Order: sequence, then structure tokens, then C-alpha cells
Amino acid sequence: MPTDPNCIFCKIVAGQIPSHKVYEDDIVLAFLDIGPVVKGHTLVIPKAHHATVMEIPPEVLGAVCQRIPKIARAVLAVTGAKACHVLANNGEEAMQSVAHLHYHIMPRASGDGF
Ligand code: 5GP
Ligand code: ZN
Repeated sequence: MPTDPNCIFCKIVAGQIPSHKVYEDDIVLAFLDIGPVVKGHTLVIPKAHHATVMEIPPEVLGAVCQRIPKIARAVLAVTGAKACHVLANNGEEAMQSVAHLHYHIMPRASGDGF
């Protein structure tokens, strides 16, 4: 499995940095964002290090995306939200700050101020 010793998300996958896990299996890890912009802000990542959707093998991206509905439903269930953003920034110019592909799940409720 590709990994990058300098990548903060690879360190989270390896357990070298703590995280609040939301979901985990052989291919995917989901955990709470350290700087949530809304309550329940969750990140879904492949355990393998791939920087963006431009580089990740399609079958790995497919596996990540297959898990997103279940994780999104769980995040909405615990936050009580009925809506969410699911988005990935790909590349520095697109505001990606951690170069390990991640999907943001951001629950939304009316009046949440975001
Ligand atoms: P990006 O800007 O790359 O789309 O999003 C990166 C996200 O990763 C940000 O929302 C940021 O708060 C989150 N993040 C950065 N470092 C850590 C960390 O060490 N732990 C966790 N849980 N989230 C992190
Ligand atoms: Zn990584």
C-alpha cells in the first residue's frame, strides 16, 4: 500500500497521530476534522497515500466513494442534520492543504451560521 512518511494523514492511518475515528475498514478511514467548520465535520480518506483524484487508481477511488453514503448517513444521524456537503479539494490551487486525498463531509442545518 502506498504510504508517505511525511504525510499527516498517513501518520493518522498508522496510529502515529491520534484521531477521533468515525469509520474504518481495510481500505478507508473516516475521522473528525481537527478544525471543524461545522459540528460533525468528518474526513473520509483512502488508507493508501494518493494525493488527488488525478492520481488515485479509479478502483481505489471507487471503493472510497462506495463508503461515503453510509458514513454520511451516520454523520447526519448523530448530528441531527438533514443535509451535507461532500467535497474534495484537489491540488494547492484548489485549496488542498493536506496532499492525501480526502472527502469532507460537512453536515448543514438551517441557521448553522456557516
Ligand atoms: P483541505 O484544505 O486539504 O481540503 O482540508 C484539510 C483538512 O484537514 C482541514 O479541514 C484540516 O482542519 C484537517 N486537518 C489537518 N491536519 C489534521 C490533523 O492532524 N488531524 C485531523 N483530524 N484533521 C486535520
Ligand atoms: Zn498520506
